[in-house]
Amino acid sequence: MSTAASPLPAISDLDPSAVAQLVADLGLEKYRSAQILDAIWRSDATTWSEVTTLSRRAQEALAGVARFYSAEQLEREDVEDGATSKLLITLSGGAKVEAVLMRYPPDPRRGRGERATICVSSQAGCAVGCPFCATGELGFTRNLTAGEIQDQVRRARQILRGEGRELTNVVFMGMGEPLQNLDPVLASIDGLTDPLRGGIGQRRIVVSTSGVVPGIARLAKVRPQVTLAVSLHAARNALRDLLVPLNRKWPVEEVIAAAAAHARATGRRTTFEVTMIDGINDSPEDAAALAQLLRGSSAHVNLIPMNSVAHTPWQESPAARIEEIAEQLRASGLSVTVRRNRGREAGAACGQLAAERAGAPAPAAVARRRELLVVASAAALKGERSPTPLAPSGPLGGVEQ
Ligand code: SF4
Repeated sequence: MSTAASPLPAISDLDPSAVAQLVADLGLEKYRSAQILDAIWRSDATTWSEVTTLSRRAQEALAGVARFYSAEQLEREDVEDGATSKLLITLSGGAKVEAVLMRYPPDPRRGRGERATICVSSQAGCAVGCPFCATGELGFTRNLTAGEIQDQVRRARQILRGEGRELTNVVFMGMGEPLQNLDPVLASIDGLTDPLRGGIGQRRIVVSTSGVVPGIARLAKVRPQVTLAVSLHAARNALRDLLVPLNRKWPVEEVIAAAAAHARATGRRTTFEVTMIDGINDSPEDAAALAQLLRGSSAHVNLIPMNSVAHTPWQESPAARIEEIAEQLRASGLSVTVRRNRGREAGAACGQLAAERAGAPAPAAVARRRELLVVASAAALKGERSPTPLAPSGPLGGVEQ
């Protein structure tokens, strides 16, 4: 019997050999394993009782030992005329995570057909605490299991199937730092790429990191075809200490070196993401430092306007300035794109919807947080490094350092 403390395992947490063992343990016919995998990955069922290829006896036996979906509740919000769907998923224990499904029309100029990408979460909350990020402000709740990650993809595929579309890409850029939950992330990639299960090509998967150096090395070794995206945000250590607190542990030069080693080992081009914040990291000097850091590499740079979040005094850089920075980087030989944020209307920068549901921090805490960020960013812009990161101000964190 399931309890709140120990829910039944989710079926997608089991690999094919574990499913076969479960089938044997339940005394079901051997061929049921293939039916179960097919139901998990290629049917529209959301409960065991909707899996019509299984007998009633098999449905009931399975329902007693495994959940068909790990999500206890799913809310969906469609924005941008239906091009983007925001999924807010409640997991066992009440943790909430978000996944964002983005649909793209064909792009004949780039020789691309219709695409659909799901951005998945790997953790509920995040311990890294980047101050411009809604998830970072929530603090860390827990790691997701491989099944909980895969189930975000299963849901996306069901939604798309209903529209006559197919999922083409998976990006680990939602809530959490994937490389701080690496074993379940790798197990989920196994499931997503296994021809018997997700059947998605490794090259269609992007794993993003804020710079967990040992994790980048391990990823290169065990999943060489997966694309690496590094959330860089600043090329200078003092500023990156503030924007990505992990930088105190793994400074930007080490992150770049690890990414370069990944690119050499895998032959895959690294993407570096920079969230563009007005007056903070968008000067010609910032662009020059970034160009210097990435000189001679085949890296791709993605400039992303910041999503406003209440707890910071910061805003997105003006579009014209982002274009100037992009041009400066291109002139130094880098490949650069400027990304339009999808789902901004719904607060779709990952974590914003979950943060709203978690409840707003007290206005005094927000005001104090904004003051601290003004002081800290002024010091960082002068090149002063601070030994301690700012603690999150959200409902799960404190206010002071
Ligand atoms: S930007 Fe990524 S790593 Fe940083 S706090 Fe947000 S979810 Fe965590």
